[in-house]
Amino acid sequence: MSKPANPLKTRHKFLDFLYWNLVVSVPFITACIAIGKNSILWLISYIIICLLLVAVLYKFYCTHCPHYIQSDKTLKCMFFWGIPKFFKPESGPLSFLDKAVAIVATLIIVLLPVYWLWLQPGLLVIYLLSVGVIATTLKRYECRRCTYFQCPSNSVPEDLQP
Ligand code: SF4
Repeated sequence: MSKPANPLKTRHKFLDFLYWNLVVSVPFITACIAIGKNSILWLISYIIICLLLVAVLYKFYCTHCPHYIQSDKTLKCMFFWGIPKFFKPESGPLSFLDKAVAIVATLIIVLLPVYWLWLQPGLLVIYLLSVGVIATTLKRYECRRCTYFQCPSNSVPEDLQP
């Protein structure tokens, strides 16, 4: 059987961005509801912390991504669309610090609302299921054809990598 011309996803479309932001909005809004029911102050703090941590990921992780490096003045990928490239692109591999910061920032984003979700088991179940959907869909449908070969999660077969 012949291989498709280019099985790698070299460009993301606006529909990719729309899809992934809708998928991410489910656990995020679930967490916001759980926190907001207890404290509006914590809800505002949670949103600000998430924005700051996304900015950290943008700096340490996204600046090495081909979608970031190759895009013009603004980034257009499955998670960001039309966001200015605030940081200098880094074409080299991810350092230990880059990887550590990316993993810790992601873990904080995921674990931060668990205390409030624990108080509302129904919302906790929705949260865990929707985070599971994000992780498995990313691994199953994106990591296998992603051009970000430096990413530790990339699972493109070696014969398709440059
Ligand atoms: S595709 Fe992922 S790693 Fe690449 S710039 Fe977008 S969010 Fe960052």
